Amino acid sequence: MTQKTGNIGVTTENIFPIIKKFLYSDHEIFLRELVSNAVDASQKLKTLAISGEFNGEADNLKVQVILDKENKTLTIRDNGIGMTAEEVEKYINQIAFSSAGDFLDKYKNAENAIIGHFGLGFYSSFMVSEKVEILTKSFKENSKAVKWECNGDPEYSLTEAEKEDRGTDVILHIDEESAEFLEKHRIQELLSRYCKFLPVEIAFGKKTTWKDGKEEETGEDNIINNPKPLWKQKPADLTEDEYKNFYRELYPSNFEEPLFNIHLNVDYPFNLTGVLYFPKIKSNLDINRNKIQLYCNQVFVTDSVEGIVPEFLTLLHGVIDSPDIPLNVSRSYLQSDSNVKKISGHITKKVADRLAEIFKDNRDEFQKKWDDLKMFIVYGMISDEKFYERAEKFALLKNTDNEYFTFEEYKTKIEANQKDKNNHLIYLYATNTEDQYSYIKAAKNKEYDVLLLDGQLDMHFINTLESKFGECRFVRVDSDIIENLIKKEEKIESVLSEKEQENVKWVFQGIIPEEKSYWVTSDSMSENDMPVIITRDEFMRRMKDMSAMGGGTGFYRDLPDDYKVVVNTNHPLIVDLSSKIEKKTMSKRLEIDSQLEEIKKEKTELDNKLKDFKTEDEKPLEDKNRLEELENKLSTLEEDKIGIYKGFGKNQKIVSQLFDLALLSNNLLKGESLSNFVSRSVELLKK
Ligand code: ADP
Repeated sequence: MTQKTGNIGVTTENIFPIIKKFLYSDHEIFLRELVSNAVDASQKLKTLAISGEFNGEADNLKVQVILDKENKTLTIRDNGIGMTAEEVEKYINQIAFSSAGDFLDKYKNAENAIIGHFGLGFYSSFMVSEKVEILTKSFKENSKAVKWECNGDPEYSLTEAEKEDRGTDVILHIDEESAEFLEKHRIQELLSRYCKFLPVEIAFGKKTTWKDGKEEETGEDNIINNPKPLWKQKPADLTEDEYKNFYRELYPSNFEEPLFNIHLNVDYPFNLTGVLYFPKIKSNLDINRNKIQLYCNQVFVTDSVEGIVPEFLTLLHGVIDSPDIPLNVSRSYLQSDSNVKKISGHITKKVADRLAEIFKDNRDEFQKKWDDLKMFIVYGMISDEKFYERAEKFALLKNTDNEYFTFEEYKTKIEANQKDKNNHLIYLYATNTEDQYSYIKAAKNKEYDVLLLDGQLDMHFINTLESKFGECRFVRVDSDIIENLIKKEEKIESVLSEKEQENVKWVFQGIIPEEKSYWVTSDSMSENDMPVIITRDEFMRRMKDMSAMGGGTGFYRDLPDDYKVVVNTNHPLIVDLSSKIEKKTMSKRLEIDSQLEEIKKEKTELDNKLKDFKTEDEKPLEDKNRLEELENKLSTLEEDKIGIYKGFGKNQKIVSQLFDLALLSNNLLKGESLSNFVSRSVELLKK
């Protein structure tokens, strides 16, 4: 053979320009593809050496990436098996190009969904080159070197060539638009992204040292990869420190130490290796997402494992390596792939098993790390039924005294004292121990226990727990007065009459600005409870919290915050206030009462008279009009009466003071109201 030219078997006349444009954003993957081919060729040689089919030396296998900016070439050199002319014909002209054609067909259908455009192979070199040369010599005895050349047309040439050593050089003549790939730092970046853990040494230039303030090259190859990454080693041979160091190698800019790790190692029915780390997560779910790196036989594929593992597991960090994850399908298709399903199920189980093991072996340690671990576990329990079932044995609840309980332990703890009259178990919780201090204290005075649920996902978690536990409710400590949080049978006698209670209520309503949605009610609590308490309905608050988090509907989010102001009509201060109210409003009230009396009397007479008519039409119009007039007057007078009470409250410092104190213990007293409160308090002290 001296010279051969031919046509590459691709159906489209010239698909290079199309693929160049089509795959524009992913041009950089060419390097991964070519270096992987070089690594494969090296490993094949090793296999042949082991099986005895190759007798030469196979120890110094190395891939070299050589940048020649001046000549605008990038060469990927290996000393692997090489190719004969026939093999170039077969593997490059027929297979490589037909697979490129197939790929293009597939790619059209899968849109942007292909993970890292795997399978494009050798062909991808044309995405960045105006010409590609292959200079290769097979390991087979008496092989002649050949040179293959193609400039992007479907036409190629194959000639005999000079090459001393076994192996292959793929020489890319980088085109003008791809000049970035002639930059050292760019190639360095790509190599450390895609080739960091390839199993054969990869050299890129020489190591440098600093001498007299200048960077100088040494004679030593700059090896950019770690050919034996930790996840490929046996767990029994590894120390805790080695795991930690590997974590740093994976995430050089992350300074937090991981909490635990899991080493994955499965051969059957699928192949999976890897190391996963539990990071510390307190908040900011999204920052921690998508840190897991996916590899296929040590070749980096992607750091988005969405669709491959359940969503909550995307919070973990580390590496998953599996040749059994199909890489040339869309993500939506991935989830239905049976291997992917098995792999994801396996990982979920491993993660739960590991947590269960730590919990069992060292509960103290587990508790210490719980706060950092909680978010992850809660996320898993909310979103993955299977994980919930596994985790319910080790998931913990923490109370406001910093004690930890399993679900079972906590239930036992509160069962005796926290059941309401309908036999529902009430789980009291706080979201902030400072803000809700007075409510927590009131609950503790009743010997109730209060959980601390202050996590980003706890609102959702509460819903999950309520539906799982059955016959129970979670109630925030400030959502009602203590007697109503856990409603028991006994009711406290009221000191004030119903009418008096009603009047006190209006007095307080009178001092609340119209624009605030605070509704005053009264209740006869213990005289040791606070005189005025502000609560926030559990249901409304949850709905609002959920919609603020993007969960529920916007309807709730847009409603004003509404609070209930409960006046304790058994408190001595309120009892005193009530008698003052009744006394001070007497004269005005009597006046209205006598008018009311008269109107009521006339109305009763009229009602009686009109009763005798059978149909509405028969009733005299005059009477009907008068009746309407009387009804209007009645309601105006009732309003006036309420007005008296409302007006009364406005001049009573004690009313404002008690209301402000209630606001204050809820952290709701701010700005001008707070400053008014301070001045009023000082004034009251002067007396
Ligand atoms: P794939 O690697 O997926 O098989 P490629 O298009 O990348 O597809 O390569 C086609 C074939 O060409 C390879 O299977 C291999 O036989 C051969 N080949 C490519 N690069 C090399 C190389 N550096 N050394 C030896 N053979 C190679």
